[in-house]
Amino acid sequence: MKRRQFLQKTSLTIPSLALSSSLLASCSGKEQSIVPIQTDKEVIIIGAGISGLAAAKVLNDRKIKVTVIEAQEKVGGRLRTDRTLGVPFDEGASWIHGPKGNPLTDLAKNAGANTFLTNDDSLAIFDTNGSQYSDRATERAYKDYENSLKEVQNKGKIDQSFQQVFGALYPSNLNDRLWKYMLSAYLEFDTGSDISELSSLDFYDDEAYNGEDVIITNGYDTIANYLARGLNVKLNERVSSIDYSGEKVNIIANQQKHSADFVIITVPLGVLKQNVIAFNPPLPLDKQQAISKTNMSAVNKFLLIWDNIFWNNDLQYIGFTPETKGKFNYFLNVKKFVNTNGLMTFAFGNYGKQTEQITDSQIIIEIMGNLRAIYPNAPNPRQMLRTKWSSNINSYGSYSFATNGARSTNFDIIATEVSNKVFFAGEHTNRAHRGTAHGAYESGLREANKIIKLLD
Ligand SMILES: Cc1cc2nc3c(=O)[nH]c(=O)nc-3n(C[C@H](O)[C@H](O)[C@H](O)COP(=O)(O)OP(=O)(O)OC[C@H]3O[C@@H](n4cnc5c(N)ncnc54)[C@H](O)[C@@H]3O)c2cc1C
Repeated sequence: MKRRQFLQKTSLTIPSLALSSSLLASCSGKEQSIVPIQTDKEVIIIGAGISGLAAAKVLNDRKIKVTVIEAQEKVGGRLRTDRTLGVPFDEGASWIHGPKGNPLTDLAKNAGANTFLTNDDSLAIFDTNGSQYSDRATERAYKDYENSLKEVQNKGKIDQSFQQVFGALYPSNLNDRLWKYMLSAYLEFDTGSDISELSSLDFYDDEAYNGEDVIITNGYDTIANYLARGLNVKLNERVSSIDYSGEKVNIIANQQKHSADFVIITVPLGVLKQNVIAFNPPLPLDKQQAISKTNMSAVNKFLLIWDNIFWNNDLQYIGFTPETKGKFNYFLNVKKFVNTNGLMTFAFGNYGKQTEQITDSQIIIEIMGNLRAIYPNAPNPRQMLRTKWSSNINSYGSYSFATNGARSTNFDIIATEVSNKVFFAGEHTNRAHRGTAHGAYESGLREANKIIKLLD
């Protein structure tokens, strides 16, 4: 589904990132002569997600010595595919949002990632009594929803959350099930935040590429594995400190010291917020404040597999309007693009976080409660896979959002380099495309470009 339902702004160019065509070509795999840089300077990149791998590939292609240090057992970070059920379950990113002009489109093609074109209109939304909302009702509600977002943007205040401003404008809508569905399956999914924590000013000040979204059908990790080819990646090494007080940057990972001339830190915002990495000297105060003021929430995913299909297989999406906002209100028909009888559902916002304390068997009861309201004879699933992004120590959340009480310009402050030695990449450093795989990718190219400029 389109993460950006509310297309106020679209960008086909990225002037702020000033990505040269050779940088993009280098990563996408297009043939282009890349001039090596004569230098004995070394770079360490912390984190082998798409941002870290993109940066490493660009530097490596220019023959700059680069080492990637990654805490997990494999590359990819939030591009993480679980194949234990015989089909790819993407725990993090699934979609390329807005494939037109999006650098991931070419990259995915070159990496051998297969895609499926989604159709947001292939959706039926059901009420708790099993009746389907009419097309007229949902179209009208969606128009009103779009207008309400514009109204909140106009009336937004730094110290009031989206929920507060929306609630003052439309008090009864906060308790209406169809509105809760839209505020959650569209807005909370898109921004990654519960509406009670979301900025009423900057919730949608980011940008989107054009075109109908595509889903990667053979695993998003295909892209990460492609980028990682030929790179020096040290797995299972968790960085605990970075000392940039001297000429070199000294990094401790698993009690072992590594040194380099430059470091690019790509660990997620949640990891920076937990202070698991000690900095000497401490990071500048404005950066520390920006890290503490911005936030990540939880979008959790659940893949369920049955022996037989019991839902309408013509549909790509099945919507549901439960009382509890964010509670399994949206089902993706996996059968449409993978050969399995599966549905993927989601938990958003505060409910998304709550699911992490709930056992698998209880989760199945809750999901089946929703599905049986629509399909009374639906059997229990044969298998289930799930995520727990809030408690995942490698990210402490799913993706960053514009937080109530702060401006989104904090993402720019987090992105600013320190002492021309310590650089920052990751989705949370790309204000225009935060919270996305392409935003993370672009940020890696941006930081590699900064180091190349210093060496060239
Ligand atoms: C549920 C979910 C759904 C999403 N859906 C989409 C989608 O459909 N489309 C889309 O475009 N985007 C989506 N995203 C967002 C997208 O996945 C991310 O924005 C992107 O993958 C982030 O890449 P990154 O390189 O910034 O961070 P990461 O991929 O998180 O990489 C950071 C790396 O740092 C490592 N690390 C952490 N701590 C340490 C340490 N101390 N030492 C060493 N290494 C460390 C981590 O293990 C990780 O590998 C989704 C994300 C989630 C969670």
